[in-house]
Amino acid sequence: MATGATGQGHAQEAGVGFLARLGRAWRVLRGGAAGAAGAAAVREAASALHPYGPVIEALVGGLPVAAIVLDRESRIIAFNGEAGSIAPALRHGEPALISLRTPALVDAIRSAGRRREPQRVEFFERVPTDRWFEAFVTPVHLPATGPDADLVLITFNDLTPLHRVEAMRADFVANASHELRTPLAAVLGFIETLQGPARNDAAAREKFLKIMQQQATRMARLIDDLLSLSRIELNAHLQPNTPVELAPIVRQVVDGLMPLARDRGVDVKVSVPQETLVVLGDRDELIRALENLVENALKYGAPGKRADIALVRGQARSGQAEARIVIRDYGPGIPPEHLPRLTERFYRVDASDSRAQGGTGLGLALAKHVLNRHGGRLTIESTLGAGATFTMHLPLSPAETGTASESPAGSKA
Ligand code: ADP
Repeated sequence: MATGATGQGHAQEAGVGFLARLGRAWRVLRGGAAGAAGAAAVREAASALHPYGPVIEALVGGLPVAAIVLDRESRIIAFNGEAGSIAPALRHGEPALISLRTPALVDAIRSAGRRREPQRVEFFERVPTDRWFEAFVTPVHLPATGPDADLVLITFNDLTPLHRVEAMRADFVANASHELRTPLAAVLGFIETLQGPARNDAAAREKFLKIMQQQATRMARLIDDLLSLSRIELNAHLQPNTPVELAPIVRQVVDGLMPLARDRGVDVKVSVPQETLVVLGDRDELIRALENLVENALKYGAPGKRADIALVRGQARSGQAEARIVIRDYGPGIPPEHLPRLTERFYRVDASDSRAQGGTGLGLALAKHVLNRHGGRLTIESTLGAGATFTMHLPLSPAETGTASESPAGSKA
């Protein structure tokens, strides 16, 4: 068939051209080109090692994953920037088995070459940071060229995010079970005591029932917080769009926490501006987040005897107008080494103090997730001995910032 004959002719031409290019390539590579121009020459020479070198180089450059292409002798013909960042020692024209030092990967390249079968391998890199990868080493036969032109394609998947999520999930389950098991064990212990030795002791019954109620309340609160967190996470991608005025929320939350403030002897000062600040949001979620922060100021900042809650207009880093709810206490503050991890689930500066205060260790995680979902953020500042300031940053509604008129005709602002 005509097409077959043409294909054969191309293959032969390619074979002759290939040998000529191979000779040229080795002359350049042996010439020891140096510097940036030298590196370009080496790359060109390496891609000339193969009849489709420039095409391979372009294809690999366009791949969204880290990729390396080797020739039959395991020399590097092409690699992209992503591959370069995984294996900085990669050099065009050099043997891959020297540039890629990971033993599992080197074995997979050897096996793929020997058996002409795809190999999959997982490996772990410690430097510069802990990272997990899977690599697919695939022998590629190009029918239009001779076997000398066979290639090996190596692609990489970064498994680090998956590993981190898996570690976080395991941590989370362990933490949640531990938090539930402690009050549950206390409740079971008291039930046993009431059924046995304290069966007829009215005073003990009274005392134990009170403790059991506290522990059961703690469990209920923990489950409530866990459910809220998962609900917020499920909706994380849906930005809430109901206009919510912030000043009434601030007043409602502070009013609701006045009994706790009195109990702790904390004087709460509230300030809201004359102007109306409105955000697009979920009212209940915003109340929940603010409640957690004000409650923390009353619990942990109590020794300072004062807390200030202020609603103000500000400007985000992007230049966009935002509302800020600033919650400041004058308590002992937070040591700086704890600040970066404070919004992690179950992270506490002092776990026993938090539990004694009825805390679940989920309040700040919840507040952070609520703010993220609203396109805002939570910032924390603290000076040891001088208290802590938690700020809720929320983008103002477009109508509020005067951009509503710019929205396309017919759209609901
Ligand atoms: P918890 O239920 O323990 O209060 P949070 O997530 O609300 O959980 O807070 C996490 C930890 O952050 C608390 O256990 C506490 O150690 C610390 N923390 C939070 N707010 C303050 C504050 N205003 N002052 C000092 N420490 C605080």
